Amino acid sequence: MGNNIKVTVWNEFVHEKKDKDVIKLYPKGIHSAIADYLKKRKELEVKTATLEENEHGLSEEVLKNTDTLIWWGHIAQNDVKDKIVERVHKHVLEGMGLIVLHSAKLSKIFKKLMGTTCASKWREADEREILWVVNPAHPIAEGIEEYIEIEKNETYGEHFDIPNPDELVFASWFEGGEIFRSGCCFYRGKGKIFYFSPGHETYPLYYNENVLRVIYNAVHWTAKKESPTITRGNVKSLEK
Ligand code: ZN
Repeated sequence: MGNNIKVTVWNEFVHEKKDKDVIKLYPKGIHSAIADYLKKRKELEVKTATLEENEHGLSEEVLKNTDTLIWWGHIAQNDVKDKIVERVHKHVLEGMGLIVLHSAKLSKIFKKLMGTTCASKWREADEREILWVVNPAHPIAEGIEEYIEIEKNETYGEHFDIPNPDELVFASWFEGGEIFRSGCCFYRGKGKIFYFSPGHETYPLYYNENVLRVIYNAVHWTAKKESPTITRGNVKSLEK
C-alpha cells in the first residue's frame, strides 16, 4: 500500500442538498461521483471530505496523508475558514498536489496560490464547448483525442485573471464565441496545481469518461513525490 497515491476529494457539498436538479444528478454529491470513478483504479486510495465536517474534513492528519487534493466549491467558498486555507496552502508548498475544478477557480485557496482575482466571464446558456488539447505530449492529456466535445456547459470566457500558466494543456471554444484556458498547470513551491474548468453542477460532466480521465491523469501528475528536504535562509558556503 506504501506506493499508492492517496487522494482526498473535497467538495463544499451544498448545491447537492438544496437544489432539486443537482440532487437528482449527484445524489451523493459531486465528490462521490469523482471518488467512485477514481476508486476503480487500484493504485489510488481515495477518501472524501466536505465543508460541514469538523475542520472541513481537512485536519493536519488528513492533509499529511494526502498526496493530491481535489477541490470543488461554488456558493460556499467564503465559508471556508482561513485557518484551513492556510493549512492547505502550506501543504501545497510542501509538495501536496491540488486539482481545482470549475467554479473553485474563485476559491480562497486558488486565489491565494495565484495571487490574482481568478475571475472570468461566465454565462449559463447551455452552450457547446470544445476543449482542445494544446499540449498533446503532456501527461494530463494521455488517452485523450485531439479534443473533448461537451454538448452543453456553462460558458467561461477570457480574460481569465490568472498568472500565465506554467503549462497549458487545454483551451476551450464555446458556441457563443468565447475562448477560455480550461486546463492550466502551475508550480508553487514543491507543489503542482492543475486547474480544469468543466464541471458546472447542473450538467453530468463528472460522469463524462473524458473529463474523468483528465482528472485521473491530473491525480498522477500532481501527486506528491519523494523529494529532498530544501534548506532556505542563511547557509554556509558549500565551497571553501
Ligand atoms: Zn458553474
